[in-house]
Amino acid sequence: MSKKPEFDVTVIGAGVVGLSIAHYLSKTKLSVLVIDSEDNFGKVTSSRNSEVIHSGIFNPQNSLKYQLCQRGNELIYKFCDENKIWYKNCGKIVVSKEREIDNFNSFTESLIKKGIEFDVLTSEQSSKMEQHIISDKSIYIESSGVIDSHDYMNHLFRIASDYCTFIFQSNAIEIKKRKDVYELQIQRKNKEIETINTSSIINCAGLNSYTIAKKIMNQNLKIPSLKFYKGSYFALSSKWRNSFNRLVYSLPQPDDSLGIHISFDSTGRTKIGPDYEKVEANNFDYTVNENSQSKFFDSAKDYIKDLQFDDLTPDYSGVRPKLFFTNDNFSEFYINEENKNGFPNLINLIGIDSPGLTASLAIGELVVQTMIPKMNL
Ligand SMILES: Cc1cc2nc3c(=O)[nH]c(=O)nc-3n(C[C@H](O)[C@H](O)[C@H](O)COP(=O)(O)OP(=O)(O)OC[C@H]3O[C@@H](n4cnc5c(N)ncnc54)[C@H](O)[C@@H]3O)c2cc1C
Repeated sequence: MSKKPEFDVTVIGAGVVGLSIAHYLSKTKLSVLVIDSEDNFGKVTSSRNSEVIHSGIFNPQNSLKYQLCQRGNELIYKFCDENKIWYKNCGKIVVSKEREIDNFNSFTESLIKKGIEFDVLTSEQSSKMEQHIISDKSIYIESSGVIDSHDYMNHLFRIASDYCTFIFQSNAIEIKKRKDVYELQIQRKNKEIETINTSSIINCAGLNSYTIAKKIMNQNLKIPSLKFYKGSYFALSSKWRNSFNRLVYSLPQPDDSLGIHISFDSTGRTKIGPDYEKVEANNFDYTVNENSQSKFFDSAKDYIKDLQFDDLTPDYSGVRPKLFFTNDNFSEFYINEENKNGFPNLINLIGIDSPGLTASLAIGELVVQTMIPKMNL
């Protein structure tokens, strides 16, 4: 006979997605455990991104990414206002060159189809808005911005930790479905292994989410495995601090990356990136390759006036966990309660790459307000 569960819900992973879910769970009467293998929350992909609040312009309209990005965009601004978190709803300029006119036209058509409001800018208009950019034709989209993602996560954690139990340096190594509980083995920092029984599991372990789901479900998990794409950034020297007031993007690329863009943080520190490099699973190397400087410079000097090679310094990188269902051009989120696949009370969140930060509150809302009430808890 299986033991009585110690928790109603166990969340694996305290990145921005796990924190958002825990924040929504803290408004329920369920007992909640959140575990993470790192020594604190948000230390993996959630602290290695562009900190951009997206507006869905790059995602297909019928995708879950698009829907959750739109809803998340609305929720995150509201959450920031309520909790006095720094953000700048600065808007985004998408630049283009004469030779990209076909791509430019199909991009504007996709925005019209989605009902996203935008302005088309001439070269003169765009350089009036942003004196350092070079662009033939541009698009200006208002509903995009940047956020202090660390402060955002601090607030999610502060709210959630009043109600949920968080344990760090705790690696989920084995999970078995027993009759009506999940038996979870956790390896602590001192290598000791502890077993916890929980009525349900929410797997939002980011780069490890597919591996964990596979461990639990084996051949019953019927989605393709994750592919990993590293994105590196180069910082611009201090003379560029506060030089840009808006985000600057190139047109979307055919390979599911967003292209290299210019973004900045709350101190006005400016960076370019991320690039798009396929990497293999296991032991991700986050070092930024200094040899990429020429590639970054060549791509950025096309749309930043007077940029010098020495203005660039290697900064940081992150790895995108991507899930491609049909082809390698459109990745999608997988958020599923696995009852129909034989695993009731298990929710997997796999392939949560960009716009996962923007969508985080919408993901938490979907999981806790729509999926959990249908489970038997
Ligand atoms: C280069 C780059 C740029 C991006 N830019 C943007 C952007 O501008 N805007 C935007 O909206 N999104 C952006 N994203 C996407 C966004 O960062 C992610 O979607 C989001 O951070 C995913 O959060 P997460 O909680 O799912 O994953 P993570 O932050 O990776 O959290 C998963 C957690 O699970 C833990 N974990 C893993 N395995 C185990 C285990 N076995 N046991 C216990 N714990 C475990 C990890 O330690 C980690 O803390 C970007 C991503 C990248 C890589």
